[in-house]
Amino acid sequence: MPDTKTLIRNAVIYDGTGAPAREGWDVLVDGDQIADVGRSLSHARATVVDADGLALMPGIIDSHTHYDAQVTWDPTLDPSSSLGVTTAVIGNCGFTIAPCRADDRDLIMRNLTQVEGMSLDALRAGIDWSFETVPEYLDAIEDRGVAINVAAFIGHSSVRTYVMGTAATERAANDDEIAAMRAIVDAGMTAGAIGFATSTAPQHNGAGGIPMPSRLADDRELETLGGVLADHGRGIFMLTKGDRTDVPYLERFAEKIGRPVMIAALLHNSTNPMGTHDELAAIAEACGRGRELWGQVSCCPLTMDFTIRSAYPFESLSAWAPAMKAAADDLPARLSDPNLRDAVRAELATPAGVRIFNGEWQKLAVVEAARPENAAAEGDTVAELARRAGADPLDWMLDFAISDGLDTVFTAVLLNSDEDAVAKMITHPHASVALSDAGAHLTFFCDAGFGLHLLGHWCRDLGVLSLEAAVHELTGKPAGIFRIPERGRIVPGYRADLLLFDPKTIGRTANRRVFDLPGGGPRLTTGAAGVHGVWVNGKRIVGPTGPTVGTRRSGRLLREFDA
Ligand SMILES: [Zn+2]
Repeated sequence: MPDTKTLIRNAVIYDGTGAPAREGWDVLVDGDQIADVGRSLSHARATVVDADGLALMPGIIDSHTHYDAQVTWDPTLDPSSSLGVTTAVIGNCGFTIAPCRADDRDLIMRNLTQVEGMSLDALRAGIDWSFETVPEYLDAIEDRGVAINVAAFIGHSSVRTYVMGTAATERAANDDEIAAMRAIVDAGMTAGAIGFATSTAPQHNGAGGIPMPSRLADDRELETLGGVLADHGRGIFMLTKGDRTDVPYLERFAEKIGRPVMIAALLHNSTNPMGTHDELAAIAEACGRGRELWGQVSCCPLTMDFTIRSAYPFESLSAWAPAMKAAADDLPARLSDPNLRDAVRAELATPAGVRIFNGEWQKLAVVEAARPENAAAEGDTVAELARRAGADPLDWMLDFAISDGLDTVFTAVLLNSDEDAVAKMITHPHASVALSDAGAHLTFFCDAGFGLHLLGHWCRDLGVLSLEAAVHELTGKPAGIFRIPERGRIVPGYRADLLLFDPKTIGRTANRRVFDLPGGGPRLTTGAAGVHGVWVNGKRIVGPTGPTVGTRRSGRLLREFDA
């Protein structure tokens, strides 16, 4: 029988609690568990790994991913598994693929294409639809196997579509429909979901620019579905908020359902510089009154590559709706319409609480022109190019894109670029650092390496937080918030999810474009620097030279959570 013990010797241990690091300690792994932690451990038959003074921490818990579709074709959850993530929470914002009837599959896929920037061809070629209900979906993940641990939210928009069909994007639900949705959430919680996720955010639009179904829910529906968590005495309520569901509303909501509420997506907006700080302050006050609210923040600048055909930064503007509805042939004509342009300008001139693009043309640049005669514009900002041409920036951008066959790749630094502001947010006691959106927005950005970026950029380079605090933020803290038992710490009896790294070089590498989606579609991906080993449930999935083979089933579908 092969021996399943591993002895990691001479590491600097960051145990995930925030306690001071311990130098020259050893960790003994037996099967899927941490068996012992201490000095000079020995075990005759263990595989010995000499850490040689490198840092050892629990594996990263990424609580905001969208691997719901990818997990059905890629058990490695690439790239997260090679970036130190050992547990991924899927189904965020309520954009799941279960429950789903066979007849609704195309609708669900087209919505995901729009709202989470996933290639429709990849989804059509890739998703293994061997399920209909939430419990069947969870079983399917388990049967297929996965390299890292996965916990799944029940997704509001899919539940709504399942019960209401196309009316899900048109109107509030009636009593019978709410009761039917309630039963689905109840069955999902019984089967082991981590909680319930929804979105009221204006940038969340489905196929053809119609709002995602959850945006049509009224308070009664939200409270009934959130109440299922109260009945079960466990589960996290996750919401990407819009203007209506502000912090005072969510405080009342948390009081009603008596469960933790995770509020996304708190990203710093330079045109409303106090907005997210005020929200975190309001969250802290609510917590002082006994509610459990968390603000989900990001340690990465939100930078998006996009083309005008799929211009996510503009899609939360209601004035952009005609462009989203337009057929491909008709798009240049729509975008040339002065009425549309005037309406977009007018809307951008009106301040908004929740909006990802706010008319900062100096933060929008041409990355790549499609036609050689347009290449001179590459690398310059739209503000500068428009100024030189004596044109309005919106007119310049749309005219240029039309002259370039609508294939120009633009990049926009949308939010979270003010490092002083972000430093305050990521160290806020009621914030949780996440928002990688891994598995989504595949051609727009890739922040799956957010954890390595926190350790390298914010901790080592800027000294904004200690390594102990950063490790806690990525491990023990989210394990506590999400009630994930026996993970997120290096203590005997816990599961052996571990990340061995070099603090001097840890980080993420620059994004690069690869063409490896089902059907050959493109996505952005990122690599790890300074990662020397990743273990999931005691099995090594990344060695010193990269991912190891034969470990595509080392993860578990997590179904049991603390209250
Ligand atoms: Zn999301």
